[in-house]
Amino acid sequence: MSAAPPTQAPVSVLNVPGLDRRRMDAETMPFLDSLVRSGSIVEWDGHPTTEIWPTLVTGANPGQHWIWHCKLADQGKAKCFKDRLLEKLPDRLVATGQILRHFVDREFDMPCIPHRRRRHLEFHRLKFNARSKPEQYRNVGGVDTLFGALGDKAEYGVTGQFEDLDKMLGEWPRESTSLDWLEVHCYDIAVHYNVHKDEVMKQRGRELDDFAKAYHDKCKKLGRRFILVADHGQEPVADSVNLEKLLKRTGVDPAEFVHFTAQGVAKFWFRTKEAREKIEQALRASEHLNVLDWKELNERFDFELDEEWGELYAIADSGYVFFPHDFHHLLAHLHLGLTNPAMRSRLWSFNVAAYHGQMPGHPAERGFMVSDDPELEACVAADELVRIVDVAPTLLSLVGKKAMPHMKGRVVMEAVSDDADAQNETAVA
Ligand SMILES: [Zn+2]
Repeated sequence: MSAAPPTQAPVSVLNVPGLDRRRMDAETMPFLDSLVRSGSIVEWDGHPTTEIWPTLVTGANPGQHWIWHCKLADQGKAKCFKDRLLEKLPDRLVATGQILRHFVDREFDMPCIPHRRRRHLEFHRLKFNARSKPEQYRNVGGVDTLFGALGDKAEYGVTGQFEDLDKMLGEWPRESTSLDWLEVHCYDIAVHYNVHKDEVMKQRGRELDDFAKAYHDKCKKLGRRFILVADHGQEPVADSVNLEKLLKRTGVDPAEFVHFTAQGVAKFWFRTKEAREKIEQALRASEHLNVLDWKELNERFDFELDEEWGELYAIADSGYVFFPHDFHHLLAHLHLGLTNPAMRSRLWSFNVAAYHGQMPGHPAERGFMVSDDPELEACVAADELVRIVDVAPTLLSLVGKKAMPHMKGRVVMEAVSDDADAQNETAVA
């Protein structure tokens, strides 16, 4: 006896990065709290990066879509006159010039890194505001996303401001698509900067909950299946780790290695065996750090990344961040603090209040996909974790499309009719 085929219905994803189940309660988030308690849910463990979105929407790993911070640029490149000149000037001054350049040329990424180090790196990052056009969200690094797979029948939108939510509710979900995906990125930003302020978190939580409820109800009215996707949570930052000091104390000549330091993850490339041994030893002896080489990273996550993407990784424990890091510069804080109201606190505090994108296994790295549609149910065991790459093939399958060949995941949520009469009819037939 098989269940009757479920009704075909378009899908609307509401994507809320930063939504942490530990911060959801019936008082602040009545709708979302009840949704995760009673809906069909699948959960996954995160990756050590803040850029989960490319993996979510391509169903491919960083080794395929290439959004993995940066890789080592051409090694054989000799220093030109400009390199020699810029290395003679103080690093802070060079970074200031680079930041001014970044203001007019947004393609010039990671301007806070001094030239002597920056010239060895090739950046592969995807900021949320650089994926608003169809050509940007349909394909990431040459790999088609689920939006690319559906073409005109899919749409993606994102907002970084709570003030835009009302407007978004007027425009979304789209009525003519088989799949649309709206990312409420402003909630993630709010948690990053305000996690320690109870009143602000409650206020933003309520605004988010009201919006999610209204979005859900609108989807129902339009006959669309509502699915909430929360890629990760966030952990309040307790303290920072000073990697620059640690590297200085090793006594290794900076010319013998290259490094890149984000807030939660640092990576290294070495020119000599001695440099690697000394730095690896210092990292392993340091508190609050997890040290993995590139092979261990691949084994753990199936990333298919080679050494060019980093020979050795230092990942800070949740609750700790690197400071200073390669996004830190007075001018950068001033600019973001003055131009983005959500980041105002950068004017007086250089560190974020909460962070994510570190070691998996911590509640801050837990992501989930949930729906209260009675016809949608998880097709995996309740206590089984799924993988981030499972999201894209699952959503495609819900709108009647097969996964694309590059997609690594499997279908983890399906539409089944639980209509008893329909089942009886099938049984009789
Ligand atoms: Zn974030």
